Order: sequence, then C-alpha cells, then structure tokens
Amino acid sequence: MPIKEEIAAYAEEIGEIRRDIHAHPETAFEEFRTADIVADKLTEYGIEIHRGLAKTGVVGTLKVGSSNRCIGLRADMDALDILEENSFDHVSTIDGKMHACGHDGHTAMLLGAARYLSETKNFNGTVHFIFQPAEENVAGGRVMVEDGLFEKFPVEAVYGMHNSPGIPIGQFAMQTGSAMASADMFKIEITGKGSHGGHPHQGIDPIVTGSEIVMALQRVVARTINPVEAAVISVTQFHAGRTMNVIPETAVIQGTCRALLPSVQNQIENRMKQIVEGVCAAHGLTGTVDYDRRYPVLINTPEETSKAAAAAIKVVGEDNVNTHLPPTMGSEDFAWMLQDNPGCYIRVGNGEGEDGGCVVHNPNYDFNDDAIIFGASYWATLVEQEFGAES
Ligand SMILES: [Zn+2]
Ligand SMILES: [Zn+2]
Repeated sequence: MPIKEEIAAYAEEIGEIRRDIHAHPETAFEEFRTADIVADKLTEYGIEIHRGLAKTGVVGTLKVGSSNRCIGLRADMDALDILEENSFDHVSTIDGKMHACGHDGHTAMLLGAARYLSETKNFNGTVHFIFQPAEENVAGGRVMVEDGLFEKFPVEAVYGMHNSPGIPIGQFAMQTGSAMASADMFKIEITGKGSHGGHPHQGIDPIVTGSEIVMALQRVVARTINPVEAAVISVTQFHAGRTMNVIPETAVIQGTCRALLPSVQNQIENRMKQIVEGVCAAHGLTGTVDYDRRYPVLINTPEETSKAAAAAIKVVGEDNVNTHLPPTMGSEDFAWMLQDNPGCYIRVGNGEGEDGGCVVHNPNYDFNDDAIIFGASYWATLVEQEFGAES
C-alpha cells in the first residue's frame, strides 16, 4: 500500500493545520504560536514533548517497543519577511511576513506522520520529531545542535525534507553526496589614506585597490578551483566615499561564497585572505577579511540516501523517484544536523505550472496541500521500513 490510508483519511485536517500556520507566519526565533500548535498537537497524539532548544524549537519523542534504535525526522517552522501577494482565504494575516518557502507544509506533514506513527505504532524503536526555528538566514538548526539537540536526543540518522516547485505532485527527488552548497558571508575592509580628489598622489586610494580585489576574486573560481568542483564568489556590495571630490579613507566590500565541497570552501577562504593581504600590501593599504561560515555543505550519506530512496519508492513507485537530482548552489540549515549524523535530505514535489509551480521566496508562492499525503506517508514509511516491528 503506497499512500498510508490513515494519513489520507485525515489529510484534510493536516491541511487545515497547514493553512492556519500559513495565515499566521512567524520568523526566526519568534515561532511562538507555531511552536504552541506543534506542542499541542504532539501532546494530543500522545507524544512526549521537549521545548526550548533554540528558543522556540520543539522535539517530540515517540518510543515504541524495546529496541534502542533512534531516528530523527526534522521539519522547519519559520516564515520569511515577504509581503504576501496571494488572495486566498489563508493568506498571511501578518503584514510583511509570509510562509513563502513552504515550512508551514513541512511542519504539517511531520505532524501528520507523528499522528499516524503514534496511532499505529507499527515499529520498534524511537522517533524524535524535530521542529526547528529560523531555518532562513540565521541557522536555527545550528543553534539547536549547539544547544545539545543530539546529546539530549541521540539518533543513528537524521532525515529532512523540502518541497520543490517544478517537481510534480507525487514525486520525490534526492541525490547522494553534496546536495546543497555551503553559504558563507564575507566582509572586506580596506583602509588607505583620504585625500583631495584632484590630488590623488597625496592619498592612498581604497577604491582602486578595492576594485582590484573584486577582479582578483573572480579569478579564484575561474583559475584556481577545479572546474568540475562548483563554486561561486559573488561580490554583492561595495561601499566607499560620500562625495565627488574626495578620495575616501576606507572601502568595504561584501558578498557571499558557495561551494559543493568543504575542501573548496577552505580554498576560497584562504585565497580570499591571501588576495586581500597581497593586493593591499602591494599598494600600501591595510585590509581585513571577516569570513563568516553560515551554512556547511549539505552532504547526503550514501546508506541513508538509499534508505530514503527505498521509502520514497514504496510510497510513489520507482518511476516517481529521481535519485540523481543535480545539486544546487542554494544552502540549507539542515546541513548542520548532517554534520553530526548520517542522513538524507530529500525533495517532495510541490507541483508544476499554476498548480504549485511558483518558486519559493516569491510573494505568490503557496505550499501545495496535495503534497501532504505523499510527504507524510514518506515519513511514516521510512520509520516503518527502518524500525520494522521485527527489528
Ligand atoms: Zn527558504
Ligand atoms: Zn525552505
């Protein structure tokens, strides 16, 4: 039986929870109402809860049978600072905040799976349902890990799932190895010597040197990184000067770097520091680099990816599971949880075209409730597959 009948029977209720969360979006570390809903529902389903990790995080623990085996299933709860442009009934009621990445759906699907697993108890082991705050921008998953998530709730593997517009409803996609890029932020501060715009020889111009640094950074990817090992360095801000006839004293250059291998991430950081130091020294300026590693590379481990694929195939059949999805240069907080544990992060189709095809982070996006039975059934199937009653 592919789709869990029980889940299909209460899919509408899960959809109602999803739309309620959608109408009341909350952003990073302020998911108080959402966390209350999660905690109340888990309690209603007879699942023990733990609150407070990363402020608004909720962990539900369901132990069945005598096995010591443990698995973690993770959903994210946060919304984005976007003014929603949709006009349906469950449109955001909070100005400037919106569930534009489908985390409302992720939360609802994991609640649906929790309800099913608690009602049927057709497995032998412990499931930790991990509901994390602040996936967007500020790595609430990292904070949960730093707050002791996996010391308090040790797991043999942890699994994550994200919806994907453009992938049809009823399909899954994943890949072994690097799935999503590391995301680092950098800030380069250059200090020269200010002078009159008409007398450049009396100063040391940070704009010309900064421009040279911007150009030199382009060569890191183009000329020093193996072309088959993808990387991005994007300078997205360059601030210097306030008026036309003054050469300023300082310049600030900021941007982001992405890589699909930790070794390339290291290479980028090292090369950036060498370039800033070298170019500044050559022209008599000083330069500093603040290199902030925000998200590591998200790496799906081979064994757990096979398990995830097997569970997805049980739900929707082999023809509807793509196990060779190309990696992307986007990034994901779940990577922090995979730093400590083996596991796999998969995609569930959100639909195509008018029906769920709108890209995430767009003001017209909405999670497609038709995906709920597939996503929740995948979670349930994965647990039963890994912790079959006989295990
Ligand atoms: Zn997002
Ligand atoms: Zn997201």
